[in-house]
Amino acid sequence: MKKRVFSGFRPTGKQHIGNYLGTIQNCVSLQQEYNCIYCVVDIHALTTLENTDTLQEDIHEMVLDWLAAGIDPEKSILVVQSHIPQVTELHTLFSMVTPLSWLLRVPTFKEKVKMQPHNVNYGLVGYPVLMTADIALYKGEVVPVGEDQLPHLELAREILRRFNSLFGFVFPEPQAKLTQFPLIMGLDGVSKMSKSYNNHIEIASSPQQILERVMTAVTDPARRYRSDPGHPEICNIFSLHKFFTSNRVDEIASDCRSAKIGCVECKKLLAANIASNLEPFREKKAALTAKPNYVTEVLADGATRAEVIAKETMREVKENMRLL
Ligand code: SF4
Repeated sequence: MKKRVFSGFRPTGKQHIGNYLGTIQNCVSLQQEYNCIYCVVDIHALTTLENTDTLQEDIHEMVLDWLAAGIDPEKSILVVQSHIPQVTELHTLFSMVTPLSWLLRVPTFKEKVKMQPHNVNYGLVGYPVLMTADIALYKGEVVPVGEDQLPHLELAREILRRFNSLFGFVFPEPQAKLTQFPLIMGLDGVSKMSKSYNNHIEIASSPQQILERVMTAVTDPARRYRSDPGHPEICNIFSLHKFFTSNRVDEIASDCRSAKIGCVECKKLLAANIASNLEPFREKKAALTAKPNYVTEVLADGATRAEVIAKETMREVKENMRLL
């Protein structure tokens, strides 16, 4: 029997190559080894989102990109968090067993308070409890995390341990699957690739759009003239070549250092390789887009399958808590 992976993602709309290389490819490969539940955590998004005008569109675009990139709805459950109301019920019950002091010491809560002092809502402090409910509702056994997310998972494990000790065993403690998510820098070369910094390349971009975006990228600032030798180790274009031109990285590094290749030529090569690498994705996305209800149907099917698990978990929880 395959173990169950749970992973949640904020709805961020059309995906960029940072999402693709960092997360999506990992989720696609996990499907071979695990039963995966991939959840669009729209309620979590509300803790920092003050305007929800584009929320539905963002969910749709993100799920469409994920499906086109290889998430297989026959193998995995794709579900939107708010479509399964049991998650908020379990969150409320977990909030009764979670000491407030555990939540107040979470570093990301303190960071969020600094980032949005005008909107320190209750959801921000309860975020780890809702995250625990997300995982526990489906009895997730494995959670892929980067090293920076390990403390959050440990807190979830503590909450579940406390629940089990107070009310009897219901929940397995989820194990971390430590994953090296590559840090993909944006085209500005200083920040992580992100839509909010407008330093990204959408994976659905046409070859021409990819070229236009890549040509704006910052390279080695010491290379002011074509004849200047470059330093590929500090150039983000070179970092991206490692993913998209992996068979020629040594040659590119050497040609950059000896000024045999110029930045314009180097960027054109990268843009062409990104475009050809993502061609199967673009073709699949076009085919899926031609089925206007496809994403809605996938999410409805995911909700039906997820709800079966959720209802059974809640029955056990309520029985153990003497709520039934
Ligand atoms: Fe970067 Fe390529 Fe220019 Fe070297 S030649 S600095 S790797 S863009």
